[in-house]
Amino acid sequence: MPLDFLTLMTVMAANLFMISAALPLIMGRDVSRAARNMQASMLLQAVAWSTIIASATLWDQALSTLSIACNAAAQWMLYRALEEWLGPRPLRRVLLVLVIAAPLGYTLGFGHYAWRVGWANFLMATILCIVARATLAPVVEANLRWRSLLMGCLLTSAAFTLARGMLGAFTDQYPSFRTPHPVNLAAAVATNVSLVLGTVALLVAWRSEAEHKLRTLAMTDGLTGVLNRRGFTTQGSSLLAHAARHQLPMTAMMLDLDHFKQVNDTHGHEAGDRALQLFARLLGDTCRSGDLVGRLGGEEFGVLLLHNSAPAGLALDRRLRRRLHAVSVAELGFALDYSAGMAVLQPGEADLAELMARADGALYAAKTAGRGRLVAAE
Ligand code: GH3
Ligand code: MG
Ligand code: MG
Repeated sequence: MPLDFLTLMTVMAANLFMISAALPLIMGRDVSRAARNMQASMLLQAVAWSTIIASATLWDQALSTLSIACNAAAQWMLYRALEEWLGPRPLRRVLLVLVIAAPLGYTLGFGHYAWRVGWANFLMATILCIVARATLAPVVEANLRWRSLLMGCLLTSAAFTLARGMLGAFTDQYPSFRTPHPVNLAAAVATNVSLVLGTVALLVAWRSEAEHKLRTLAMTDGLTGVLNRRGFTTQGSSLLAHAARHQLPMTAMMLDLDHFKQVNDTHGHEAGDRALQLFARLLGDTCRSGDLVGRLGGEEFGVLLLHNSAPAGLALDRRLRRRLHAVSVAELGFALDYSAGMAVLQPGEADLAELMARADGALYAAKTAGRGRLVAAE
């Protein structure tokens, strides 16, 4: 059966349009920015392929320039989706410059055949390589599979784009749509396969995103936004194991609001909730970025100070107490105070529950000594 390049590309454009229409339907309205970028990337690719096909018979320069612009923009949107999923990616500025330069250089040099074909294909190949590179760093075990698949698809597309660029720029046998050139046919088949597998990879990425959100939600306290007991215990245990292994200092604190039952009784449960939110916010602001903060019970919070010993705990308590006194009356309409217990990780100690129990014992001592103070465990 003879494979016709134009037919393959038309089928691919049609498939891309169908995927672009189906994705918003199956993913629903309430999707993340990453998912929206991925949808935009698919639609831009659909427009890119259909305009390049159309340009063979109609408005050659305008439509082929539009096609290159859409193709480059599609890769930019894909890169941005990767940023949302995986954090900052390398070579962002370079990519942006290439995305703008590809259609611009193509249309400015349109009169010179070898130049425009070489320029567009070389730049597109580089763009694809940068996006492929963006699937890699940093390597996180959990989602390595879809990233590898996507990288394979992008590198395959880059290789064929480069091959077409070489033919156009350095030989006189650049494959047009109508000439049955082996590079063209191989590119069309590979691009179709990349589309199918790349779409699968992106859908798996989207599923991982949903899983990650659920996992985060299961570890977060709904009222205050800090970790809940489960999250604090899970993350705290691995931090403590790390600190014990590398003999790094670590300090645990337990904080409990004073006479909180009275706050509820006097000002109402809603005011009590706002007090908890305020306290959690101030506590989070007062800690350093690597420290762990969790709501362990009703009006009881836990803190793990990394790479720090007792003086850091004392300083944190002093700053938090000052800030709380400064804003609680203004923001809540009543004064809020708390008691705290602190325990420093001992050599050989490797159990979070044990460390927190010592901090809790110190908290109990602070309560019995009259509240509104910090007590350090022996
Ligand atoms: P102490 O100084 O000894 O800690 O006294 P306390 O009143 O703070 O301690 P107690 O444990 O007797 O009371 C804790 C109160 O916290 C009781 C409960 O109604 C309140 N509480 C627990 N969770 C919430 C919550 O999510 N919202 C509100 N508004 N109150 C809560
Ligand atoms: Mg209390
Ligand atoms: Mg309590």
